Amino acid sequence: MATAMSVSAVSPAAAAVARPRTLVCVPATARAPREMAAELAAAAALGADVAELRLDRLAGFAPRRDLPVILAEPRPLPALVTYRPKWEGGEYEGDDEPRFEALMLAMELGAEYVDIELKAADKFMRLLSGKKPENCKLIVSSHNYENTPSAEELANLVAQIQATGADIVKIATTATEIVDVARMFQILVHCQEKQVPIIGLVMNERGFISRVLCPKYGGYLTFGSLEKGKESAPAQPTAADLINLYNIRQIGPDTKVFGIIGKPVGHSKSPILHNEAFRSMGFNAVYVPFLVDDLAKFLNTYSSSDFAGFSCTIPHKEAAVRCCDEVDPIARDIGAVNTMVRRPDGKLVGYNTDYVGAISAIEDGIRASQQTDPTTSPLAGRLFVVIGAGGAGKALAYGAKEKGARVVIANRTFARAQELANLIGGPALTLADLENYHPEEGMILANTTAIGMHPNVNETPLSKQALKSYAIVFDAVYTPKETRLLREAAECGATVVSGLEMFIRQAMGQFEHFTGMPVDNENFRAITSSRDNPNTMKPRL
Ligand code: NAP
Repeated sequence: MATAMSVSAVSPAAAAVARPRTLVCVPATARAPREMAAELAAAAALGADVAELRLDRLAGFAPRRDLPVILAEPRPLPALVTYRPKWEGGEYEGDDEPRFEALMLAMELGAEYVDIELKAADKFMRLLSGKKPENCKLIVSSHNYENTPSAEELANLVAQIQATGADIVKIATTATEIVDVARMFQILVHCQEKQVPIIGLVMNERGFISRVLCPKYGGYLTFGSLEKGKESAPAQPTAADLINLYNIRQIGPDTKVFGIIGKPVGHSKSPILHNEAFRSMGFNAVYVPFLVDDLAKFLNTYSSSDFAGFSCTIPHKEAAVRCCDEVDPIARDIGAVNTMVRRPDGKLVGYNTDYVGAISAIEDGIRASQQTDPTTSPLAGRLFVVIGAGGAGKALAYGAKEKGARVVIANRTFARAQELANLIGGPALTLADLENYHPEEGMILANTTAIGMHPNVNETPLSKQALKSYAIVFDAVYTPKETRLLREAAECGATVVSGLEMFIRQAMGQFEHFTGMPVDNENFRAITSSRDNPNTMKPRL
């Protein structure tokens, strides 16, 4: 039975002797040899270090005819040749002998790396009988598509692979939860201490961080696809994202890790914003998506000072209050934490930057569209309807109340609406009640549910008819930037405020907590506007 292990026990810095950088390897998966050779050139153009030639993907592959084409000199990149059988997750269905002969021919033609599966390694080595060319490194690989074994079992696997005479150990496992990756990091560090080159990756979305953070722990190589749709394993990022979004070339043992904890988390634009901000300010840190099922378990596992801070989103903001050692008084009053920072003494401190981000965005939206009294908040005295009673709902309700608004809560689960309304001292409504709720003109509406969020872009929390009672409509959803709710509200004549504005402002607050540096407002906005495109701002998991 695999057990979670704390990454606090792992010290990449201590294990960091001078070491080569982690290579970025692009799998070439074309069906035809000439296309595969073209993929090699495309991978080189992306800035990759190696290309993995997946011979098992080639249709009607004839080694003597096709290998000289694919491995023609001069090659744009070093080649890693893999001929994966079906029993190890590949597509080759024949006997081992012709497969081994093809791999040996690849060696003769100058392939820099050849991959052989652990289960076939002894047989292959016997056939090779010491005739491996000196410039060719043999990778002996093991793939587990079910789970990630215990650290002890992984260490045994490393020893078993080493015993075959491998130059490089490769272990790929599967994450059933994100804490599984910690065991792979421990094995990477262990191998680094013993100077054993190792590729250690954990597949699927919950294992995603293994692909980005392996340079921190000394992984020999990580895979990045040529483009989306050309992945050779589940949740493999693109090489372009590894290099340009996650700045993988800059990741080393001292790089601090930040990230967004959520479920789902793939929609978040935070990795794009924070990584770019870290890079532009020369801050040695990387920001990754953490797909987390159990927040307490995640925080107990990734408890070292290397994991320096977290953003928190659906559905963990309320649990985050309980998981922090200390909570800022406003975040405690709100009952939701969206930012966690690890202090030098290891303690986690929780903050809420949603509150200021959302309320200031709405205030500025009103000021930009109406004449207002500069001495008071434009929210003072107004009827402010919040849809939702989760983390964002609480932040909006608390903030509006603080600014003197009369706050009403509407929520799918009425009991939660009542609970928040009691805290704030206002009425609670069901979502059905909200359809006919128009006690006065000029009301403000704030949607804080995920209704209308990508991919459910045709959904909306309130009918267009009901929107006619509102003068100001805010939507916390920011993918897409213009939700159906905002589009229909604008058609009804309301002033609309996008969730993107809240997103930018809450992220600025987080950046200051993470780095201890004042945020460069202009720079932050420039990053967002240059990346303000759902296609480029969406990290790929
Ligand atoms: P949360 O704590 O999980 O709360 C979700 C709320 O949405 C709950 O009130 C829930 O109602 C309601 N809800 C969820 N699905 C619903 C559905 N299908 N129909 C009706 N109600 C539904 O989440 P959160 O952290 O507050 O985030 C909520 C949304 O705000 C997300 O879309 C998030 O991306 C967005 N957000 C944006 C920003 C920004 O910077 N723009 C910042 C924070 C959050 P029940 O109580 O009935 O479950």
